[in-house]
This record gives sequence, structure tokens and C-alpha cells, in this order.
Amino acid sequence: MGKAAPAFPFFVSGFDTLMKNELGKRLSAIVTEATTAIAEASATSDLEKIRVDLLGRQGSLTALLKSVGTLPEAKRRSFGLAVNEAKDSVNGQLEQRRVALATSQRAAAVEQEVIDVTLPGRSTGQGSVHPITRSRRRIEEIFTRIGFNVVHGPEIEDDFHNFEALNIPPDHPARAMHDTFYLSPGIVLRTHTSPVQIRYMETQDPPLQVIAPGRVYRCDSDVTHTPMFHQVEGLAVDTDISFADLKGVLTFFIREFFEQDLPVRFRPSYFPFTEPSAEVDIGCVFCKGGGCRVCQQSGWLEILGCGMVHPEVFRHVGIDNDQYTGYAFGLGIERLTMLRYGVDDLRLFFDNEIAFLRQFS
Ligand SMILES: [Zn+2]
Repeated sequence: MGKAAPAFPFFVSGFDTLMKNELGKRLSAIVTEATTAIAEASATSDLEKIRVDLLGRQGSLTALLKSVGTLPEAKRRSFGLAVNEAKDSVNGQLEQRRVALATSQRAAAVEQEVIDVTLPGRSTGQGSVHPITRSRRRIEEIFTRIGFNVVHGPEIEDDFHNFEALNIPPDHPARAMHDTFYLSPGIVLRTHTSPVQIRYMETQDPPLQVIAPGRVYRCDSDVTHTPMFHQVEGLAVDTDISFADLKGVLTFFIREFFEQDLPVRFRPSYFPFTEPSAEVDIGCVFCKGGGCRVCQQSGWLEILGCGMVHPEVFRHVGIDNDQYTGYAFGLGIERLTMLRYGVDDLRLFFDNEIAFLRQFS
């Protein structure tokens, strides 16, 4: 078949042209159709469907791209380029339309959303500090004004700091008055803020002038006792501190705290860690000294305990008692708050009763 040999390249070339035309037509038809569909899409979900139809695994453009491999090598490159260009063009159009749709959707949402700026705003109720916190801050403010520093100590204490260094040895009867919470042998929830003065004197040299406010714990609960309450410990140590200094400072504090020129009296008392010791009474804030139920008709209210630092306490912390003297006092924040605001049940402070607490805002 002499004729067949020269005809072969022609046939191939003819087939090739045919194929190319066929594929080229199909390609341009796909692109035209896609352009229309993209322009008409009204939601981004439509665009995704168009993308899958064209470029997904079974997509029409994907199929064309796959067919590139079946073409004769000479034509492969140009057709491959054409399909890739079509693919880029379709992708570009899809992205443009996506942005346009998103923009118009956002604009429509803004259009629909009506904001009435004349409506009153939602108000939030204003809180206030707890009356005990309020009193504590007030006490700190008064004492810092006359040169006291505010210091703190741990609420979990060892026996030495809570008792022994304060001249309360293991067999001392004063321990019975403390109703102590023991965490383990020798470890307690502090029963008073006095251990803070021990810790402070252990690390600081005189002159010292500090108050130590904080939570204290005792196994006790009734109208005037809660298992947790707040105390403020006071301590001053210097070379010439006398009982007169103690009287002056406490009288000043009481009159500042109650904002009244109240009568104040010091009554002899006993504490293991002070000598001499005293309890301080103020003229009854309810009956002005005339006698009432709160003061049990005496006209006086006991508010705190105090005294000169016991030499035994100084010995425990290594302060020379020949050179230095000092005073200490301890007061209950709840007690002072009850007297200042006329609250008759201590437990009210810890019931979290909003109506009660709101009165102090
Ligand atoms: Zn009274």
C-alpha cells in the first residue's frame, strides 16, 4: 500500500486539527457558559456549585485538562496552556463574584438592621464594697495617717507564732478561750492576728509601728460570734513608748472612726502577751451613756483589748527589753462595724443578703 504511507502524516494532522477544533470549541463553550452562570449566581452557594461542576474531580474543565495528555505532543503544549488560562479565568471570575456577593449581602444586612438610637440603654446595677471591707479600709486609712504601716501574715499558723511566742505555752488556760481549729498537730487556723506581730518583730528591728488586719478563725457561732471574723492587730515598739502613747493613739482612733467625741475609758484586764493589759470601753453610741439594751444599761461598750508588750514576747523574738518598750492592741472589725452602723446580728455580715448589704452602698 504505497499510498498509505504518505497519507498517514496527513491523516494524523487532519485528525489533530479536527480534535483540536473540537476541543477548542468545547473549551470556549464551557468558558462562555461558566461566565454567564457566574454572573447570574445570586448566592455564594451557587458559586461553589459552579466551581465543582467545572473544576471538581468530575468537572468539565478538569476533563478537558485530562484529555491534554491524549493529544499529539506538538499540540499538547498549546492546548494545555489554553485550558489552564480558561481555568485561571474561571477562578478569577468566581472570586470576583464572591466578593461582590458578600459586599452586597453585607449592605443588605445593614439596610435591614434598624437601630433606634433613642431607646434607653441597658443599665447595670452598681455594686458596693462589703461593710466589713469598708470598715477595714477606714481603719487602715486612720492608722496610716498617723504613721502606721499595714502588714499581713499567713492565716494558717504554727503553734509557736499563734500561741507560744505570745506567752501562751501549751498548758496555758488562755488556750481554752480560743476554740482553736487544728489542721494538724501544731498547725492551726490563726485564732487572732497577734502572730503577725511576732512574724514582723522576727524580721524587723525597732522602731516599729504597724497594724495587721486580716481574717481569724474560732470554733464558735451565735449572735455575736462567727467561725471566721476579722481583726486588726496594732504594734508599736521604740525606745520610749509608754502607756500614755497607747491611750493617745487609741483615743484618737476611736474618735476618728465613730466621728464623735465619745468618752473613752481603759479598764484593767489580762492578756498573756501584754503587761499591764487593758480593755477599752467607749460611751454607748446608741444611748449616749444613758443606758440601753445594747450596753446592758451600763452606758459603756467594750470595743478592744490592749496593753504593753510582755517582756516574754520580746524575749521570743530577740528584742532587748531593757532598751525597748512597746504596746499592742487588737480590735474586731465586725464589732466596730456593728456599733458604727447599728447592726445587732453579726451573722448578717456573712449571709450575703443583698437587701442588707445594699444599705451600705
Ligand atoms: Zn447604751
